[in-house]
Amino acid sequence: MLPNSFNLAYNTYAFKTTVGERMRNSAFLALGITLAMVGIADAHNEWGTFNPEFNDEAAPLLAEVAKLNDAAPDEDARYFYSRALLWKPGQTLKGCFIGGTPAERKFIFDSAAKLLNGARINIIIDFQSLNPFPDCRKDARGLYPEEIRIAAGTGAPCCSAHIGRNGVKKANSDKANVFLGGRLEDWQVWHELIHALGFFHEHQKPGAPCRFDYVEIQRLWGWDATKVKTNFDRLNNDERDFRLSGGFDVKSIMDYYQSSPTMLVDGTRSPCYNPAPAKTLTTTDLEGLRLAYPMSASPASHAERVTRARAIVDLAGVSPGLRELLESE
Ligand SMILES: [Zn+2]
Repeated sequence: MLPNSFNLAYNTYAFKTTVGERMRNSAFLALGITLAMVGIADAHNEWGTFNPEFNDEAAPLLAEVAKLNDAAPDEDARYFYSRALLWKPGQTLKGCFIGGTPAERKFIFDSAAKLLNGARINIIIDFQSLNPFPDCRKDARGLYPEEIRIAAGTGAPCCSAHIGRNGVKKANSDKANVFLGGRLEDWQVWHELIHALGFFHEHQKPGAPCRFDYVEIQRLWGWDATKVKTNFDRLNNDERDFRLSGGFDVKSIMDYYQSSPTMLVDGTRSPCYNPAPAKTLTTTDLEGLRLAYPMSASPASHAERVTRARAIVDLAGVSPGLRELLESE
């Protein structure tokens, strides 16, 4: 059994990478939904263990961001707020593993590479080494410095992830932020990594036409009312400055499928009826990812906008959770 701990052999390996290796080992992400449509950690029907606390921590932040955006006439300020959960465009995120065999780690790495390579999404996950795949390593404070920390192997839960930069808040930095235990398929890895890039669920997008039967979902999936609400409620519909990928995409990799049509008030007639999990990214998924991480944006221009915004925003009334994210931008 390899739960969330390593065997000793992994721990004795020394990191040594050259620039060349780094390039080869990086998986270039190519997705881009915007903040508002993306999603929340999650729940995956019969595949998943659901971690409602991830939703609970991210959704209120999103609502707060929307409110701040509405009150901010300045474009740089709105940009600053709207990226609270997203990484910097062009950022290189360090990837590492907690648990899992080399083969299990390789599967996840290969999936990540399929997601990112060639997708024209301006963000990188650098796994630093393929042989062996790197362990996450705590610093002297007992915190992990890596941004993408994947719990893998038979002892790790599947599948969920913290939303974007929530995963590097201090309170979350002593553990994994992406949970991909057990036997996996590519689409499960992609869905969770897209959460880790800052995206919520498609069916929670403002304007999504789904009418869910929450009581029936509770019965079918064995979730309590809060869990269902945080994973199925639509997100704030009032924000004016989130760029969304167009419309509602029932085939999105970030949409839940229904294990029974009775989960929807309108059953099989619902525009949200989706009886099987999406196994590929749609053009809408890619559109969203590219909006969040455009190839045309650079870390330098992001930093300039953040600096301009910081000079004019007042974080005095902002909640501690959001404040931590904005101050660490
Ligand atoms: Zn999800």
